[in-house]
Amino acid sequence: MHQLTLAEIARGLADKSFSSEELTRALLARIHQLDPQLNSFISVTDDLAISQAKAADARRAAGETGALLGAPIAHKDLFCTQGVRTSCGSKMLDSFTAPYDATVVAKLAEAGTVTLGKTNMDEFAMGSANESSHYGAVKNPWSLEHVPGGSSGGSAAAVAARLLPAATGTDTGGSIRQPAALTSLTGLKPTYGRVSRWGMIAYASSLDQGGPMARTAEDCALLLQGMAGFDPKDSTSIDEPVPDYSASLNTSLQGLRIGLPKEYFGAGLDPRIAELIQASVKELEKLGAVIKEISLPNVQHAIPAYYVIAPAEASSNLSRFDGVRFGYRCDNPKDLTDLYKRSRGEGFGSEVQRRIMVGTYALSAGYYDAYYLKAQKIRRLIKNDFMAAFEGVDVILGPTTPNLAWKIGEKNADPVAAYLEDVYTITANLAGLPGLSMPAGFVDGLPVGVQLLAPYFQEGRLLNVAHQYQQVTDWHTRAPNGF
Ligand code: GLN
Repeated sequence: MHQLTLAEIARGLADKSFSSEELTRALLARIHQLDPQLNSFISVTDDLAISQAKAADARRAAGETGALLGAPIAHKDLFCTQGVRTSCGSKMLDSFTAPYDATVVAKLAEAGTVTLGKTNMDEFAMGSANESSHYGAVKNPWSLEHVPGGSSGGSAAAVAARLLPAATGTDTGGSIRQPAALTSLTGLKPTYGRVSRWGMIAYASSLDQGGPMARTAEDCALLLQGMAGFDPKDSTSIDEPVPDYSASLNTSLQGLRIGLPKEYFGAGLDPRIAELIQASVKELEKLGAVIKEISLPNVQHAIPAYYVIAPAEASSNLSRFDGVRFGYRCDNPKDLTDLYKRSRGEGFGSEVQRRIMVGTYALSAGYYDAYYLKAQKIRRLIKNDFMAAFEGVDVILGPTTPNLAWKIGEKNADPVAAYLEDVYTITANLAGLPGLSMPAGFVDGLPVGVQLLAPYFQEGRLLNVAHQYQQVTDWHTRAPNGF
């Protein structure tokens, strides 16, 4: 049963081949058996899952239908879940039990999903390898010596290892798409404002966006349907109707204009990845797409701009963790200053402390104009590049990552080496655009992802292209050995 996709589960539940409770028990057993190898879960919520599964079965028995009714999923551990520890991968929140559900969690629960647990992640979503978690590194099921990507690495590893069909993730600079690429999944970062951020623990508020991670585009469409929509509790949520994402999957790609940015195929890209990306382009051409070369002249400035803006916003967001109101508090503080200093010094890991310091510096009087303001101007130029490119193409295609998954520990001594891995993903966050990564093949047994970007609110187009590609390729159906 663990091989089933969300779409297959929906059919199996509808025709009564199995109940949600049976499926849930089978997957929980599999998580307990196999997850010790991967460390993809921070909390497994057996009791909650069984009671939600029973409730979903009862709703179905009463005549209710719905693709997600009884579907087992997990949430990245930065979505607040009422009554369940919500740690954000940090010692700071190790003992924090959320008193309410994030909007995404509430909406998905309302649709009938069953929460199997909370997945491991980089501390406060800062990272590209899932090595900065207080709960230890996550292993990539394709090779246990390698990282699964980050920061939604727990969701990625769990779904890739068939511990469950789909999970939520969040993407501030690539944290859905990059781990999806490194574990052979399909992952979608929606348009900024499409999915509510309420109850998502904030990293960089102008960039953060929740989205689905699954094995197929078809499943991402189902999960996104349950997540998207206007939320008055999130001031940056956008009041746009949510289309039927599954309905757009089967549109023909005949005449679809795909742009390949020349800046995404230059130095720094592993030539073996480049070859697989070109092969995916050929497949899309066979499906009727028309390929054009385009240019995004300012994307070379994306990493420096992002690594000013994201830490700046993080330094502000994380000031709330002061040892007073909630979260970790140091033992026997001498006075208030000592309480702040030691609670934050002991509660945050080194990557989070580094970002807080960089961000505080960039925002300080005297440096604000030189760093933060300049980074915001670069952000606008990057957005303008995309707007100009989308005048001539419908979708932009390129690699998701410049390199394959690296060995656990390999980049620990050099944080900037890890930052450079985000080169192709962070532009979509800076511009607020939707982006998707889908499986494009393997090099030495390690997965490679191809990235698609579209204009604002064109998630349906991304899912359509990915679904059509997945009708003529089978990369997304391959399972890692041992799982
Ligand atoms: N790797 C990027 C960072 O460390 C992106 C993380 C994310 O998208 N949450 O900031």
